[in-house]
Amino acid sequence: NILTHWVPLIDGNRLTGVVAVFHDISDLKRLAATRRDFVANVSHELRTPVSVIQGYAETLLAGALESDPDRARRFIQVIHNHAERLSALIADLLTLSELESGKVLLEPHPLNLRSAVKQAMSLLSQRATDKGITLDTGNIEASRFVLADKGKLDQVLVNLLDNAIKYTPGNGKVTVTAEDEAEMLKISVTDTGLGIPAKDLPRIFERFYRVDEARSRDKGGTGLGLSIVKHIVQSHGGMISVKSIPGEGSTFSFTLKKGGK
Ligand code: ADP
Repeated sequence: NILTHWVPLIDGNRLTGVVAVFHDISDLKRLAATRRDFVANVSHELRTPVSVIQGYAETLLAGALESDPDRARRFIQVIHNHAERLSALIADLLTLSELESGKVLLEPHPLNLRSAVKQAMSLLSQRATDKGITLDTGNIEASRFVLADKGKLDQVLVNLLDNAIKYTPGNGKVTVTAEDEAEMLKISVTDTGLGIPAKDLPRIFERFYRVDEARSRDKGGTGLGLSIVKHIVQSHGGMISVKSIPGEGSTFSFTLKKGGK
């Protein structure tokens, strides 16, 4: 994967030598392959709900609408679910491409971590209650501040909490904690859910990577949530990591600069 350029050395109008410049293009090739995979994945992900919608709509038009209203209602529900999937997918794709374009301006401010966590939890509390899951702000003291863009921090917290609830069966618990890590604050979202097998952990932040395709889709997952989270955390200068024990639960941790208050 070496590309060679020959550059002539010219003194006045006399050729005095030639320099060979070697470029290692492995990275470029890898990037091109990643992009190709991504386009293929996106097309596949979009095609599935579209074909389902087409199929069910055609069946309804072919007569099911009049002949069997109960069945028609079920079909319309399926169409609705897949339209929602499409819409979630498009929203996540737009977010990712905005983040990757580098055009999104982050406006970091000192933010109260406990309030941000409580706010994110309140958005998801109904879903948690329905599943009998307790949400807990753990040890986060009211004096904890992080330096972050408000909208982006909300998105990280909501995505991680949403996953924690999604992949935790009934009667579990989701806890958010914070601890000092030098000049950073390490924030962890811990659940008592299904956990993630060790072999999947290294790939969990890749776009469209899912431990269990069917399970994730069933639950309305786009497979993009964690890539978005990782992107946001890294663009704030933080790091993200995950630990998990299958059958016991998972902990997603990320670091942010302290907010200086
Ligand atoms: P999805 O939309 O499928 O949830 P994500 O990018 O948010 O996509 O997560 C990728 C995959 O990681 C999920 O499909 C799921 O298999 C796994 N995962 C994420 N969070 C958790 C968690 N808290 N517990 C168990 N598995 C998880």
